Amino acid sequence: MLMIWFMRFKISKIAESHGKEKLKLIDAHIHLSGSDLHPATLAEGERLGIRLFIGSCLGEFNLQPSFDEVYKANNDMAAVIRRHLNRVSGYCYVNPRHGEQAISDFRSRIEEDSMIGMKLWVSTYCNDPLVFPFVEQAIAYRVPILIHTWRKTVSQLPYESTAFHIADLAERYPEAIIIMAHMGGQVESAMNTIAPYTNVRVDTSGTPIGASEVAIAVERLGANRVIFGSDLPIACLASNIGKVVGAGLTPEQLELIMGGNMERILAEGIR
Ligand SMILES: [Zn+2]
Repeated sequence: MLMIWFMRFKISKIAESHGKEKLKLIDAHIHLSGSDLHPATLAEGERLGIRLFIGSCLGEFNLQPSFDEVYKANNDMAAVIRRHLNRVSGYCYVNPRHGEQAISDFRSRIEEDSMIGMKLWVSTYCNDPLVFPFVEQAIAYRVPILIHTWRKTVSQLPYESTAFHIADLAERYPEAIIIMAHMGGQVESAMNTIAPYTNVRVDTSGTPIGASEVAIAVERLGANRVIFGSDLPIACLASNIGKVVGAGLTPEQLELIMGGNMERILAEGIR
Protein backbone atom coordinates (compact mmCIF):
# COMPACT_ATOMS: atom_id res chain seq x y z
CA MET A 1 0.00 0.00 0.00
CA LEU A 2 2.79 2.33 0.96
CA MET A 3 4.53 1.56 -2.32
CA ILE A 4 1.39 2.34 -4.34
CA TRP A 5 1.06 5.66 -2.58
CA PHE A 6 4.72 6.37 -3.18
CA MET A 7 4.46 5.53 -6.86
CA ARG A 8 1.38 7.72 -7.39
CA PHE A 9 3.10 10.51 -5.55
CA LYS A 10 6.20 10.26 -7.73
CA ILE A 11 4.22 9.92 -10.95
CA SER A 12 2.09 12.92 -10.04
CA LYS A 13 5.35 14.83 -9.50
CA ILE A 14 6.36 13.98 -13.07
CA ALA A 15 3.02 15.26 -14.32
CA GLU A 16 3.33 18.44 -12.27
CA SER A 17 6.76 19.16 -13.65
CA HIS A 18 5.23 19.09 -17.13
CA GLY A 19 2.81 21.71 -15.87
CA LYS A 20 -0.09 19.76 -17.35
CA GLU A 21 -2.78 17.55 -15.99
CA LYS A 22 -2.22 14.87 -18.59
CA LEU A 23 0.54 12.43 -17.76
CA LYS A 24 3.09 11.99 -20.51
CA LEU A 25 4.72 8.69 -19.70
CA ILE A 26 6.03 6.51 -22.51
CA ASP A 27 6.65 2.77 -22.36
CA ALA A 28 9.21 2.24 -25.12
CA HIS A 29 9.35 -1.57 -25.07
CA ILE A 30 6.28 -3.76 -25.32
CA HIS A 31 5.22 -6.66 -27.53
CA LEU A 32 2.07 -7.87 -29.12
CA SER A 33 0.52 -11.01 -27.77
CA GLY A 34 0.04 -13.13 -30.88
CA SER A 35 -1.22 -10.74 -33.53
CA ASP A 36 -2.79 -8.13 -31.25
CA LEU A 37 -2.19 -6.14 -28.09
CA HIS A 38 -2.56 -8.15 -24.92
CA PRO A 39 -6.13 -7.31 -23.81
CA ALA A 40 -4.91 -5.73 -20.55
CA THR A 41 -2.34 -3.39 -22.13
CA LEU A 42 -4.40 -0.25 -22.70
CA ALA A 43 -6.34 -0.52 -19.43
CA GLU A 44 -3.11 -1.00 -17.47
CA GLY A 45 -1.64 1.97 -19.29
CA GLU A 46 -4.67 4.07 -18.46
CA ARG A 47 -4.50 3.08 -14.80
CA LEU A 48 -0.77 3.76 -14.46
CA GLY A 49 -0.53 6.85 -16.64
CA ILE A 50 1.24 5.50 -19.74
CA ARG A 51 0.36 7.80 -22.63
CA LEU A 52 2.14 5.92 -25.39
CA PHE A 53 3.24 2.31 -25.82
CA ILE A 54 5.90 1.53 -28.40
CA GLY A 55 5.86 -2.11 -29.37
CA SER A 56 7.18 -4.70 -31.74
CA CYS A 57 5.68 -7.93 -32.95
CA LEU A 58 8.02 -10.92 -33.04
CA GLY A 59 5.31 -13.25 -34.38
CA GLU A 60 5.81 -16.75 -33.02
CA PHE A 61 9.18 -15.81 -31.49
CA ASN A 62 11.04 -18.10 -33.90
CA LEU A 63 14.76 -17.45 -33.50
CA GLN A 64 15.25 -17.47 -37.28
CA PRO A 65 11.96 -16.25 -38.74
CA SER A 66 11.32 -16.45 -42.48
CA PHE A 67 10.67 -13.27 -44.42
CA ASP A 68 6.96 -14.12 -44.58
CA GLU A 69 6.80 -14.52 -40.79
CA VAL A 70 8.48 -11.17 -40.19
CA TYR A 71 6.30 -9.52 -42.83
CA LYS A 72 3.14 -10.83 -41.18
CA ALA A 73 4.39 -9.74 -37.74
CA ASN A 74 4.97 -6.22 -39.09
CA ASN A 75 1.51 -6.25 -40.72
CA ASP A 76 0.02 -7.12 -37.33
CA MET A 77 1.99 -4.33 -35.64
CA ALA A 78 0.90 -1.84 -38.32
CA ALA A 79 -2.75 -2.83 -37.86
CA VAL A 80 -2.51 -2.29 -34.09
CA ILE A 81 -0.94 1.15 -34.65
CA ARG A 82 -3.78 2.07 -37.01
CA ARG A 83 -6.40 0.89 -34.52
CA HIS A 84 -4.86 2.79 -31.60
CA LEU A 85 -3.38 5.89 -33.17
CA ASN A 86 -1.69 8.13 -30.56
CA ARG A 87 -1.77 5.34 -27.96
CA VAL A 88 0.43 2.74 -29.66
CA SER A 89 3.42 3.13 -31.91
CA GLY A 90 5.83 0.52 -33.18
CA TYR A 91 9.22 -0.65 -34.33
CA CYS A 92 9.67 -2.56 -37.57
CA TYR A 93 11.04 -6.03 -36.81
CA VAL A 94 13.77 -7.14 -39.21
CA ASN A 95 15.75 -10.30 -39.80
CA PRO A 96 18.90 -8.89 -41.45
CA ARG A 97 19.52 -12.24 -43.19
CA HIS A 98 16.71 -11.30 -45.60
CA GLY A 99 18.76 -8.52 -47.19
CA GLU A 100 17.23 -6.11 -49.69
CA GLN A 101 13.72 -7.53 -49.33
CA ALA A 102 13.78 -6.75 -45.59
CA ILE A 103 15.27 -3.28 -46.12
CA SER A 104 12.48 -2.43 -48.48
CA ASP A 105 9.94 -3.68 -45.89
CA PHE A 106 11.66 -1.48 -43.27
CA ARG A 107 11.37 1.55 -45.58
CA SER A 108 7.70 1.03 -46.22
CA ARG A 109 6.95 0.51 -42.51
CA ILE A 110 8.57 3.85 -41.70
CA GLU A 111 7.24 5.76 -44.68
CA GLU A 112 3.75 4.27 -44.97
CA ASP A 113 2.86 2.59 -41.68
CA SER A 114 4.08 5.32 -39.28
CA MET A 115 6.53 3.05 -37.49
CA ILE A 116 9.17 4.91 -35.52
CA GLY A 117 12.21 2.64 -35.50
CA MET A 118 13.74 -0.78 -36.05
CA LYS A 119 13.82 -3.81 -33.79
CA LEU A 120 16.55 -6.45 -33.86
CA TRP A 121 16.14 -9.66 -31.91
CA VAL A 122 18.37 -12.74 -32.26
CA SER A 123 18.48 -13.61 -35.96
CA THR A 124 22.11 -12.47 -35.96
CA TYR A 125 24.49 -10.42 -33.81
CA CYS A 126 23.79 -6.72 -34.05
CA ASN A 127 27.33 -6.02 -35.32
CA ASP A 128 27.15 -8.61 -38.12
CA PRO A 129 27.95 -6.86 -41.44
CA LEU A 130 24.55 -8.13 -42.64
CA VAL A 131 23.03 -5.56 -40.26
CA PHE A 132 25.01 -2.57 -41.57
CA PRO A 133 22.69 -1.60 -44.47
CA PHE A 134 19.75 -1.61 -42.02
CA VAL A 135 21.64 0.60 -39.57
CA GLU A 136 22.54 2.98 -42.40
CA GLN A 137 18.88 3.21 -43.39
CA ALA A 138 17.87 3.89 -39.76
CA ILE A 139 20.51 6.64 -39.60
CA ALA A 140 19.11 8.19 -42.78
CA TYR A 141 15.65 8.27 -41.17
CA ARG A 142 17.13 9.31 -37.81
CA VAL A 143 15.05 6.62 -36.10
CA PRO A 144 16.11 4.48 -33.14
CA ILE A 145 17.28 0.88 -33.32
CA LEU A 146 16.03 -1.20 -30.39
CA ILE A 147 18.30 -4.19 -29.91
CA HIS A 148 17.51 -7.14 -27.68
CA THR A 149 20.62 -7.65 -25.56
CA TRP A 150 21.34 -10.14 -22.83
CA ARG A 151 24.31 -11.87 -21.27
CA LYS A 152 23.46 -15.08 -19.52
CA THR A 153 25.58 -17.41 -17.46
CA VAL A 154 23.81 -20.39 -19.06
CA SER A 155 21.47 -20.80 -22.03
CA GLN A 156 22.64 -17.81 -24.05
CA LEU A 157 20.68 -17.99 -27.30
CA PRO A 158 22.60 -18.41 -30.55
CA TYR A 159 23.33 -14.93 -31.99
CA GLU A 160 22.02 -13.21 -28.87
CA SER A 161 23.82 -9.86 -28.74
CA THR A 162 25.61 -8.70 -25.60
CA ALA A 163 26.83 -5.24 -24.61
CA PHE A 164 30.11 -6.02 -26.44
CA HIS A 165 28.31 -6.40 -29.77
CA ILE A 166 26.42 -3.15 -29.04
CA ALA A 167 29.65 -1.28 -28.25
CA ASP A 168 31.23 -2.49 -31.48
CA LEU A 169 28.22 -1.37 -33.55
CA ALA A 170 28.08 1.98 -31.73
CA GLU A 171 31.75 2.62 -32.45
CA ARG A 172 31.30 1.84 -36.14
CA TYR A 173 28.16 4.03 -36.41
CA PRO A 174 28.34 6.95 -33.95
CA GLU A 175 25.33 8.57 -35.66
CA ALA A 176 23.08 5.56 -35.00
CA ILE A 177 20.51 5.98 -32.23
CA ILE A 178 20.87 2.68 -30.42
CA ILE A 179 18.69 1.49 -27.54
CA MET A 180 20.22 -1.48 -25.73
CA ALA A 181 17.23 -3.41 -24.37
CA HIS A 182 17.13 -4.86 -20.86
CA MET A 183 20.19 -2.79 -19.89
CA GLY A 184 22.22 -5.64 -21.38
CA GLY A 185 20.93 -8.27 -18.94
CA GLN A 186 23.99 -8.19 -16.68
CA VAL A 187 23.71 -4.54 -15.83
CA GLU A 188 26.79 -4.11 -13.67
CA SER A 189 29.21 -5.10 -16.46
CA ALA A 190 27.09 -3.97 -19.42
CA MET A 191 26.97 -0.35 -18.23
CA ASN A 192 30.76 -0.15 -18.20
CA THR A 193 30.97 -1.70 -21.67
CA ILE A 194 28.67 0.81 -23.35
CA ALA A 195 29.29 3.91 -21.18
CA PRO A 196 31.83 5.50 -23.57
CA TYR A 197 29.40 5.33 -26.51
CA THR A 198 27.04 8.23 -26.01
CA ASN A 199 24.84 7.17 -28.94
CA VAL A 200 23.77 4.14 -26.90
CA ARG A 201 20.78 4.45 -24.58
CA VAL A 202 19.44 1.60 -22.50
CA ASP A 203 15.94 0.48 -21.67
CA THR A 204 14.88 -0.69 -18.23
CA SER A 205 12.75 -3.65 -19.31
CA GLY A 206 13.44 -7.16 -18.08
CA THR A 207 12.25 -9.06 -15.06
CA PRO A 208 15.57 -9.78 -13.28
CA ILE A 209 16.38 -6.07 -13.26
CA GLY A 210 15.46 -4.15 -10.12
CA ALA A 211 15.66 -0.62 -8.76
CA SER A 212 19.34 -0.91 -7.84
CA GLU A 213 20.21 -1.76 -11.46
CA VAL A 214 18.24 1.27 -12.66
CA ALA A 215 20.24 3.38 -10.19
CA ILE A 216 23.53 1.93 -11.52
CA ALA A 217 22.51 2.79 -15.09
CA VAL A 218 21.66 6.37 -14.16
CA GLU A 219 24.87 6.79 -12.19
CA ARG A 220 27.13 5.48 -14.97
CA LEU A 221 25.33 6.80 -18.06
CA GLY A 222 23.31 9.78 -16.83
CA ALA A 223 19.50 9.89 -16.75
CA ASN A 224 19.37 11.18 -20.33
CA ARG A 225 20.52 7.76 -21.59
CA VAL A 226 18.00 5.63 -19.69
CA ILE A 227 14.57 4.91 -21.18
CA PHE A 228 11.59 3.27 -19.55
CA GLY A 229 10.33 0.01 -21.03
CA SER A 230 8.27 -2.79 -19.50
CA ASP A 231 8.42 -5.74 -21.93
CA LEU A 232 4.65 -6.13 -21.57
CA PRO A 233 3.01 -8.66 -21.73
CA ILE A 234 6.09 -10.77 -20.91
CA ALA A 235 6.60 -8.70 -17.75
CA CYS A 236 4.37 -6.68 -15.44
CA LEU A 237 3.89 -2.97 -16.17
CA ALA A 238 3.36 -1.99 -12.52
CA SER A 239 6.50 -3.72 -11.24
CA ASN A 240 8.53 -2.24 -14.08
CA ILE A 241 7.33 1.27 -13.19
CA GLY A 242 8.02 0.47 -9.55
CA LYS A 243 11.68 -0.30 -10.08
CA VAL A 244 12.24 3.08 -11.74
CA VAL A 245 10.19 4.96 -9.16
CA GLY A 246 12.04 3.13 -6.38
CA ALA A 247 15.53 3.88 -7.72
CA GLY A 248 16.04 7.01 -5.61
CA LEU A 249 15.98 9.47 -8.51
CA THR A 250 15.12 13.16 -8.64
CA PRO A 251 11.82 14.23 -10.27
CA GLU A 252 13.86 15.61 -13.20
CA GLN A 253 15.64 12.27 -13.73
CA LEU A 254 12.33 10.41 -13.48
CA GLU A 255 10.76 12.68 -16.04
CA LEU A 256 13.53 11.99 -18.54
CA ILE A 257 13.43 8.23 -18.05
CA MET A 258 9.65 7.87 -17.99
CA GLY A 259 9.09 9.73 -21.25
CA GLY A 260 11.26 12.79 -21.84
CA ASN A 261 14.17 10.95 -23.45
CA MET A 262 11.98 8.95 -25.79
CA GLU A 263 9.94 12.01 -26.68
CA ARG A 264 13.14 13.71 -27.81
CA ILE A 265 14.15 10.72 -29.94
CA LEU A 266 10.69 10.57 -31.55
CA ALA A 267 10.85 14.26 -32.38
CA GLU A 268 14.09 13.72 -34.31
CA GLY A 269 12.89 11.05 -36.73
CA ILE A 270 12.26 11.96 -40.36
CA ARG A 271 8.93 10.42 -41.21
ZN1 LIG B 1 11.19 -7.44 -25.44
